Amino acid sequence: MKSRKPLVAGNWKMNGDIVSNEHLFTGLRAALERTAISQVDIAVCPPFPYIGQAAAWLGDTGIALGAQNVAAFPNGAYTGEVSASMLADLGCRWVIVGHSERRTLAGETDGIVASKLQMALAHEIGVIACVGESLEEREAGQAEAVIGRQIDALAPVMAPLGADRIVIAYEPVWAIGTGRTASPETAQEMHAFIRARLRERGVRAADAIRILYGGSVKASNAATLFAMPDIDGGLIGGASLVADDFMNICRCAAVV
Ligand code: PEP
Repeated sequence: MKSRKPLVAGNWKMNGDIVSNEHLFTGLRAALERTAISQVDIAVCPPFPYIGQAAAWLGDTGIALGAQNVAAFPNGAYTGEVSASMLADLGCRWVIVGHSERRTLAGETDGIVASKLQMALAHEIGVIACVGESLEEREAGQAEAVIGRQIDALAPVMAPLGADRIVIAYEPVWAIGTGRTASPETAQEMHAFIRARLRERGVRAADAIRILYGGSVKASNAATLFAMPDIDGGLIGGASLVADDFMNICRCAAVV
């Protein structure tokens, strides 16, 4: 049994509506009623408009609420943005920052990701900070250089803090939504690299920080990934939209 409690978080991305969400929440509740899952922290991150609906449905399930993004600014004239204090107000325990889709589609730089991290932590919201290399970068032998740069941008903010509100998600871009998963050995190598880099950069809680793997995780491959020594759970996209699939992945994290 690992000393770090696993976390499995579902990133719903821009999917769902009131009716389909209700179906998903009912399924999550039913799965937990059939068999409770202990020893794993579970979170779901719906789109912003459904956070209130999720808060009401998750109620006493023990599943934590998260968001997929947060503004890099405290408040004010930022049309379309959602602040960390608003997320805290709505009961969000977690927020994802630096997802590769936001880095690519919204042009978020390492600096912007670091500001978002800082903003969330200032409002006592736990951060799931994503890092990952593209296929071209991996093939060019630059995976560690890219991940190292992404971690270095976040390390100064993380350095003095404890592990309870900081989570890293290693998500190779070539594995997200592609059905192509990193092998457990490749993922472990990168997770060990990330942990060593956190240590080198003076992050006090480096050994206690949970490092999740993300990228086409399914119930069929979760167990072997989660069994690796530095893989402390998963950030799950597509498979988090099907209650039984997501819960089966959570169960895989419970037995490592
Ligand atoms: C993600 O977007 O964070 C993700 C890991 O997606 P998927 O599981 O669908 O690859």
